[in-house]
Amino acid sequence: PTMTVKELADSLGASAADVIRTLMQNGIMATINQQIDYDTAEIIASELGYETRLVVPQTDEEKLLAELEEEQKRVSKGVLQPRPPVITVMGHVDHGKTKLLDTIRKTNVVAGEAGGITQHIGAYQVEYQGRKITFLDTPGHEAFTAMRARGAQVTDIVVLVVAADDGVRPQTLEALAHARAANVPIVVAINKIDREGANPDRVKQQLSEQGLVPDDWGGDTPFIPVSALTGEGIQDLLSILLLVADMRELKADPTRLAEGTIIEAHLDPNQGPTATVLVQNGTLKPRDFVLVGSVTGRIRVMFDDKGQKLRKAEPSTPARIIGLEGVPEAGDKLLVVTDEKLAKQVALQRAKAAQAAALVSNRPASLEELFKNASDSKEKELNIILKADVQGSIGAIQHALSQIQEEGAKISIIYSGTGTISESDVKLAAASNAIIIGFNVRPDPAARKTAEAEKIDIRYYNVIYNLLDDVKAALAGLLEPES
Ligand code: GDP
Repeated sequence: PTMTVKELADSLGASAADVIRTLMQNGIMATINQQIDYDTAEIIASELGYETRLVVPQTDEEKLLAELEEEQKRVSKGVLQPRPPVITVMGHVDHGKTKLLDTIRKTNVVAGEAGGITQHIGAYQVEYQGRKITFLDTPGHEAFTAMRARGAQVTDIVVLVVAADDGVRPQTLEALAHARAANVPIVVAINKIDREGANPDRVKQQLSEQGLVPDDWGGDTPFIPVSALTGEGIQDLLSILLLVADMRELKADPTRLAEGTIIEAHLDPNQGPTATVLVQNGTLKPRDFVLVGSVTGRIRVMFDDKGQKLRKAEPSTPARIIGLEGVPEAGDKLLVVTDEKLAKQVALQRAKAAQAAALVSNRPASLEELFKNASDSKEKELNIILKADVQGSIGAIQHALSQIQEEGAKISIIYSGTGTISESDVKLAAASNAIIIGFNVRPDPAARKTAEAEKIDIRYYNVIYNLLDDVKAALAGLLEPES
């Protein structure tokens, strides 16, 4: 902080002449309107016989957090209770991550919730031995890392899937690196043991070489042979997950106002902004007023992953919420607040700050430019945000894209989701040097405007083949600008 000589004199109740004289005695020639820094002002003030203290004005955000803390003290009974573990599944493409998630989900339905229709909301819960386990159902380390990049740590345990007939592959090692960087315990699922040529020992050997030693070989990593196809070993895997969770003593206080992290969000054509939040502490209820990133709103209704209405969501529960006034971003922190007005103020300030940051950021603008810039660096990297009409297309496109491996090029799908391309998708693209690919979907007006302003490249396809062709061409550096 700085102030002028006159301001210092006024705030001390001293004359400007005294201040200037003292400055001169300290070797500083200053005029009355000159800016001096805090350290200088402090020296002058103390020489004039004053004590100084730097008072930084409290921001609205700090005010809100302080209020919240007070409110938490009031409502919380201070009880810590065990909470279900939150699991992310990672591994090389085609090693069975999706299949494993599907099989676990189908065979372990939470008691009393059977009958609902499976909804892909980004996470689901199953019950095993009377206890719940939460799975994030966007497999892979891209989503995991995108969240971490935003400061959100939601995963308690990583399940590293390795196909027994294929062994450790490049993405296995990448996933391992990401899990380690996040300091999350790892359980290895040796998958496809039903296959001819399955060789679980080779997987153990290969991962041991990476320092991931099986517990039955004297290490501390559980390796569980499973078949996502036949269901063999799945119950063992779940037992181990509960065991590892117990060792971590995962606890939360359900009596607090809820806190959580957004897993995914989009604009639903019928229901408006909708987001899946993973509650991490406290209990979330309908009618709660929430601050999520730069968005606020009152929760109108909540659903679980079977599409059933939820009356409350306790720690580690994923809930799809409706009632937000805008679409938040994956990784945004959700807070239940009591001071609506202040929360709105904070949301507005955050939105402005984000906008200002976006303006100064020096981003490559389009697919062509991304590659022009990348042409002299060794590794080409293409970040993609993928929006499609249905979950099925996303899976198919992700799968097809993962097959394209131009030499030295890397495709990262940093976010994928169903529904209209929203403003938050565009913001995410801007923040992460990504292009947006829309498959059978278009942007809403706000997204279109933001994309124009931020020069974000949005490409539309309704045939996967064409999409792949363009991406291949881009990777080869041949893509002609879209006019
Ligand atoms: P992902 O890319 O890791 O999500 O892999 P997928 O779950 O899409 O699986 C890739 C392929 O392997 C699919 O055809 C699955 O049906 C098949 N698969 C997955 N798990 C098993 C398994 O345990 N045994 C056999 N035989 N096939 C499996």
